[in-house]
Amino acid sequence: MLVGLRVTSGYDGGIHEIIRLFFPRCRVTYEPGHTDLNVDIRVNEGPGYLELSGELQGLLERTGHSRIPAGDPAEVKREVRAFAYRLLMEATSMNPSPYGILTGVRPTKLVHRYLDNGYLESDIQKELKDKYLVEPEKACLLTEVATRNRPFLLSPEEVKRCVGVYVGIPYCPTRCHYCSFPAYPLEHRPGLDEFFSALLLELSSIGRALNELDLAVDNLYVGGGTPTVLSALQWGKLLDILNRYYLGPETEFTVEAGRPDTLRSEVLQLLAAGGVNRMCVNPQTMNDETLIRIGRRHTVQMARSGYELVRSAGIMNVNMDLIVGLPGEGPAEFENSLQEVIRLKPEGITVHHLAWKRGSVWQMQEAALEQSLTDRISDDARRFLASAGYLPYYLYRQKYMAGNQENIGYALPGCFSRYNIRVIEERQTIIGLGGGAASKYVDPHTWKLTTLHYPKDPAAYIKRVEELINAQVDKLRALS
Ligand code: SF4
Repeated sequence: MLVGLRVTSGYDGGIHEIIRLFFPRCRVTYEPGHTDLNVDIRVNEGPGYLELSGELQGLLERTGHSRIPAGDPAEVKREVRAFAYRLLMEATSMNPSPYGILTGVRPTKLVHRYLDNGYLESDIQKELKDKYLVEPEKACLLTEVATRNRPFLLSPEEVKRCVGVYVGIPYCPTRCHYCSFPAYPLEHRPGLDEFFSALLLELSSIGRALNELDLAVDNLYVGGGTPTVLSALQWGKLLDILNRYYLGPETEFTVEAGRPDTLRSEVLQLLAAGGVNRMCVNPQTMNDETLIRIGRRHTVQMARSGYELVRSAGIMNVNMDLIVGLPGEGPAEFENSLQEVIRLKPEGITVHHLAWKRGSVWQMQEAALEQSLTDRISDDARRFLASAGYLPYYLYRQKYMAGNQENIGYALPGCFSRYNIRVIEERQTIIGLGGGAASKYVDPHTWKLTTLHYPKDPAAYIKRVEELINAQVDKLRALS
């Protein structure tokens, strides 16, 4: 489906995103020509007000008008988005997203901005409903999550002295069909040894810079990819550097075992002795047929035994990820996975909704679940997790998620991950090192971000590592 879009110049605040909520598979063009649907949004300026008019032609026929006060350009763009959303909602008799016009990845950041300005929770919920067309239960969820994680946000002074660090190991045993991360299957991408040498060089150089600048590392996350594909010898070297330069007595140190089949007792003992105090063991589903369907080479039993191995090594904070909307799975299959994981009693459970992305083997046409089903699964999940004592403490969204839902991190009280909160709320500088990593440097006065992206391809990372180290050190110096 081709949608032609025209918006008065200067007033388009991402209306193409709104159109894609209603027609997820459409292509939006700003060029004149033959289209299936034309969306024409016009803004005419009057004295102290703006006259909005909208017209749909083609597959849908509808017109709409509204008058809004002139004012802050960002507020006006929001009004225009809301106007377009309402027009499409009336024409289609659909409300495709429980988050209304909030199409950004981190909706709780908006709630924190309201809280900064002294708004009460009930006032924020009203703003979300009236201005952003968010459904009441999602408005409550957003304020619940933001108020719960707010005590973990840093003050501007702390932001200047204390950073988080992400280390990317972009290799996995195989590539899951839904994956869009930098994750190279080991068998097709040799070069792990060369990548690892470049990574050690980078970690030592950046570690020395952090120490010289007196920047403390409050949380450290080794992810990827699947870092547990590294050998015991490699982990020994990595932990040595991390302990020398990065870890303090209070550092939260997480290692991600994206694939439970990569867990080995010898490595886990090393990790525990080397300061790792949190691990993510991610089965994604506890149904064997689905595991085969999504291209993972492990079984449910291997996920259970991997979890037990982590426990026996003495790592006391474990998180497990599940995904809603995997092909072939509906409410009953997801509930089975969730109940299995709850029985294991990890400290955290993250419930993702499948997002269809460029770079994954599967594309949009594989989208399986209707919105009513994803709504039901999300509601059930929250209920089951709440009755088992888990609280939602961070939340983010992605484009093209099943049912326009969200990913929610749940944890038992006292087991919230500082890394997860800070990476989502973007109020701490997180330095990304290694393959495919992204750094986000936070201005403590405005909370504005500057970024530095590393190459996803390990060969490009190896080639450019010295240049990347220099760029990273310059950014760190600018922080202090
Ligand atoms: S384990 Fe994670 S990073 Fe690796 S291929 Fe699967 S989804 Fe991608």
